[in-house]
Amino acid sequence: MKVRVDSSLCQGHAMCHALAPEVYTLDDLGFCNIGEKEVHPTQQAAALRGRDGCPERAITILDHSEQVSDTPTLDHRSSAKGPPYS
Ligand code: SF4
Repeated sequence: MKVRVDSSLCQGHAMCHALAPEVYTLDDLGFCNIGEKEVHPTQQAAALRGRDGCPERAITILDHSEQVSDTPTLDHRSSAKGPPYS
């Protein structure tokens, strides 16, 4: 999982940091300018908490599993050729 913070939306509320300081660090002015960052599996729940707490909706979760699910499968049950016994 990756997170992306849109710095053009961030208003420096620091809610993300309050909820998940291990994921969302702040600069000297209180803005989260991490850009795009890989999140360790043990920190994914915290990353989601921080995303949900951002009042500006500046945080996007980039979930690798969603990208994988877009890949076509070779499942014969959904094949247009009909059942295997015909
Ligand atoms: S909660 Fe949102 S607006 Fe506030 S610092 Fe974090 S990313 Fe920026």
